[in-house]
Amino acid sequence: MTTFAGRETAAPTAASFIELDEQWSTHNYHPLPVVIAEAAGASVTDVEGRTYLDFLSGYSALNFGHRHPDLVAAAVEQLGRVTLTSRAFHHDQLGLFCRELAELTGTELVLPMNSGAEAVESAVKIARKWAHRVKGVPDGTAEIIVAGSNFHGRTTTIVSFSTDETARADFGPFTPGFVTVKYGDAAALRDAITPRTAAVLLEPVQGEAGVIVPPEGYFADVRAACDEHRVLLIADEIQSGLARTGTVLALDHEGVRADVYTLGKALGGGILPVSAVAGRRDVLGVLKPGEHGSTFGGNPLACAVGRAVVRLLNTGEFQQRATELGTHLHTRLNELVGRGLSEVRGRGLWAGIDIAPGGPSGRAASEALMARGVLCKETHERTLRVAPPLVITREELDRGIDAIAEVVRP
Ligand SMILES: *Cc1c(COP(=O)(O)O)cnc(C)c1O
Repeated sequence: MTTFAGRETAAPTAASFIELDEQWSTHNYHPLPVVIAEAAGASVTDVEGRTYLDFLSGYSALNFGHRHPDLVAAAVEQLGRVTLTSRAFHHDQLGLFCRELAELTGTELVLPMNSGAEAVESAVKIARKWAHRVKGVPDGTAEIIVAGSNFHGRTTTIVSFSTDETARADFGPFTPGFVTVKYGDAAALRDAITPRTAAVLLEPVQGEAGVIVPPEGYFADVRAACDEHRVLLIADEIQSGLARTGTVLALDHEGVRADVYTLGKALGGGILPVSAVAGRRDVLGVLKPGEHGSTFGGNPLACAVGRAVVRLLNTGEFQQRATELGTHLHTRLNELVGRGLSEVRGRGLWAGIDIAPGGPSGRAASEALMARGVLCKETHERTLRVAPPLVITREELDRGIDAIAEVVRP
């Protein structure tokens, strides 16, 4: 007998934990009814001892799988030294992390933050200051162009330019200074540029929107428009970056360089929140002491884990796995079009799959997959996002795809 929630019970069940969550945590998520207690690699185990394949990877925060030994070792080593200093003092991990991340991404200066939303907020502030102080846009009038169906996080400024009513309604008043154009339409974006435009903020692949890959040549056209009008290109690589699509940065597929990148999710190795803004020295260099900061941003533990993530990416192994397993994933998923799926999109080991009309809803499909030992989650009514950890084996991947095939079969 154990004491649980103040009562004497036998081993606690999944239902008892779900009841606790329901009672004590805000209801801003609608999770699947699984209660995870342990995880390793591409698998998780619930409190009742059932094992599942993780086909979501914490929205790509777990690109290297659960508890990758090199990442855990780096964290444990740093836990034995120093974990937090505040930025009031220097520490021996910050400069190394920033240099190694800059070298990996081909950038010149790094601003470490914690969550992805903070990285995006920071990039917005940097772009505005750059416009006002360097480009010569009158103070307080800088505009940033964003795309419809974007996802950049949940702060009040970021939801100000969301086109998702659920994310936005009731949270105003909103931050002005954002202009929305259709994703994938370079001509519309070019038309939206004014003398006040500071930056264009785009996801190289729109993850939350359903893994939307832009049309060929889109980013090259966007880059050209930005160059012509002295506008910064900010690529939000928080979900698309760090090997998910087969390259360090998803924008690498387009042969285009951004001026500023936001990184997050997998940068923390699935261990702790680590995000960063990385980009041109003359852009990030506009920030001066006192103008921006974060108590936890760039802490020694985060930097040590981030450095271990960069080391993994420097081997190229994960990019190669994403490419090879991704080809297999897309080949097999495309065979399901007309057999329960209406469309498959994506790049690397990352897919958005639309369930054909008449099939189960995304939620029902996720529940049916769970019953078959595969954890996946809908992003929209009829769309599932498939993003297994890059450490998954081909056999495990096939097992998950077999389950998807069964669940969507008409
Ligand atoms: C998840 C995500 C964010 C926000 O990251 P958080 O860590 O949840 O704040 C921002 N941009 C993109 C593209 C994302 O996928």
